[in-house]
Amino acid sequence: MKRLLLLSTTTGYQAQQFRAAAERMEIPLVLASDTCHAMDDPWGDGAISVRFQKPRESAGKIREYALHQPIHGVAAIGDAPTATAALIARDLGLRFHSPEAVELCRNKFLARERYQQAAMRVPWYARFKAASDPAQAARAVPYPCVLKPLGLSASRGVIRADSEKEFAAAFKRIAALLQQKDVKIMRDESAGWIQVESFIPGREVAVEGLVTGGRLRVLAIFDKPDPLDGPFFEETIYVTPSRLDDAAQQAVGDCTQQAVIALGLSDGPIHGELRLNHDGPWMLEVAARPIGGLCAGALRFLRGPRRAPVLGATGWEDGGRLLSLEELILRHALGESVDNVARESCASGVMMIPIPHEGFYEGVENVEEAQQIAGVERVEITAKLRQKLVPLPEGASYLGFIFARGQDPQTVEDALRESHGQLKFMISQAIPVM
Ligand code: ADP
Ligand code: CA
Repeated sequence: MKRLLLLSTTTGYQAQQFRAAAERMEIPLVLASDTCHAMDDPWGDGAISVRFQKPRESAGKIREYALHQPIHGVAAIGDAPTATAALIARDLGLRFHSPEAVELCRNKFLARERYQQAAMRVPWYARFKAASDPAQAARAVPYPCVLKPLGLSASRGVIRADSEKEFAAAFKRIAALLQQKDVKIMRDESAGWIQVESFIPGREVAVEGLVTGGRLRVLAIFDKPDPLDGPFFEETIYVTPSRLDDAAQQAVGDCTQQAVIALGLSDGPIHGELRLNHDGPWMLEVAARPIGGLCAGALRFLRGPRRAPVLGATGWEDGGRLLSLEELILRHALGESVDNVARESCASGVMMIPIPHEGFYEGVENVEEAQQIAGVERVEITAKLRQKLVPLPEGASYLGFIFARGQDPQTVEDALRESHGQLKFMISQAIPVM
């Protein structure tokens, strides 16, 4: 009998999706998590308690487990668990990226060095210790530029600066963010650095893919139709298929493949982000994991040759079965080929609902109305009542997610915007009385 291992910090939505996928495949899935001391065995099936901050120790613990209960495939959610996943996969001879490659993905400076060595298009870049003198650093960089902490993700702490004055303010703001307790515990050596890059103008896309033996298979290219010009870089709408012409999509795929080789990513999921302008595509970053949050819900796949559009949440009319991204990743992890898999041919999109301003979440109205917009499949509010809401650049969460499908990308984008327009969020300034 086969067994799968999932490494995840949370037991939230994404982990549940992997669990559901494994269930459909009728293969047991064991969870390794660093939050299960508190919860003890969250799924009641003998979760392995690890510490993703200590990948070697964690891999050792999983190896011991695997002596008695063999593991045949590994998957990881989020950036932190990828290091442990890579080590245990190497130990057990399973399909995953190498420990060296996942480390490069988690360090924006080392990744840029690799891209430069590989003669890829890279912006001007340099890193500064967060304790450096902002005024001095401000004189050493080109403008406009983007400042970002080395070890964070989801655009947290990413700020554009057009002048020395803006630079100094942004630098101090990021340095303060890096001092926050929740941020400090996340990363060790990279946590003390701020990377500065020249600002790359243009539109942005995201690439979801699976790598096998270093060869990238692009599963989807998402357009990000909202302009991302700063000063903060909030993710909102993702729509696939991309409206870029074929040549541009090919260039995006080629550029991502180059980055995969430059970083040494070999086997497993990747999530890439690129900018495009008259020079061509510019790699922003590649993560050694699938798209985060609930967003994978925007992707469904078919096996075999591409068929007619499939619309509606209930799925395939032909008796065939739609695969989730999670199922695809698990099948790939077990050694299956993904060559004959293609995304369903309808357009699909997701909106990450941004936090408009700081405050406490007091609820939302009109979810029904938002859900009833044609094309909208689901509105999922993830904010918790009286939760403290912190917008970018310090914050790292969304109010929720809206999913839509339709005949073409524009219809999907319009549906997402219209649905979002219906929602009335209540956010108060006052500290809630508990
Ligand atoms: P994170 O890991 O926090 O997501 P990224 O490097 O992906 O960090 O940056 C987040 C966002 O900031 C990008 O999606 C992009 O919109 C913007 N950004 C980052 N670097 C640049 C750059 N050099 N030029 C223009 N925009 C950038
Ligand atoms: Ca990013």
